[in-house]
Amino acid sequence: MVTHRAASIAAPRRAYVDSGPVVTDSNCIFCKIIAGELPSARIAEDDRTIAFMDINPASLGHALVIPRSHTTDLHSIDSGDLAAVTASAQRLAGLAVERLGADGVNLLNCAGADAWQTVFHFHMHVIPRFAGQPEKDGLTLPWDPKPGDPDRIAQAAAALRGETA
Ligand code: AMP
Ligand code: ZN
Repeated sequence: MVTHRAASIAAPRRAYVDSGPVVTDSNCIFCKIIAGELPSARIAEDDRTIAFMDINPASLGHALVIPRSHTTDLHSIDSGDLAAVTASAQRLAGLAVERLGADGVNLLNCAGADAWQTVFHFHMHVIPRFAGQPEKDGLTLPWDPKPGDPDRIAQAAAALRGETA
């Protein structure tokens, strides 16, 4: 968290780059990767983001893009950091096609434990996809696409628009 209170032992460390304050959480494994305290196979970096390989790859080339500044998830990330992560993920997706021969790419973000998030430093998965090559690609679609109930779809849309029934 970015805090503006007086420094204390518990306060996150902050450094500064051109884009603003960089928050570090000493208990976060991705912050430790950024700091070089844990190993990683880095691919690319810029002033706001770092990209490195996922140690439990869902496919060949599965990588993660993270903001340098610690933040928990999609709900808390600074919009500039989100734009930078997205741009890095787009570049990485292009490299997966160009250099690994990927046939497609999935971007995935998990926001919250109930959405499969296990590391609470925002990250975007960049998952290259390989058609008909199960040795390179173990992914399957995690839902069963079938027509939904039109009333429930409309109700959810109304709720999202802020209209109460
Ligand atoms: P999520 O479930 O969306 O929070 O994804 C967290 C991802 O981080 C998982 O795919 C893990 O395999 C990956 N991961 C955890 N620890 C490390 C690490 N030390 N280096 C690289 N990837 C990691
Ligand atoms: Zn962190």
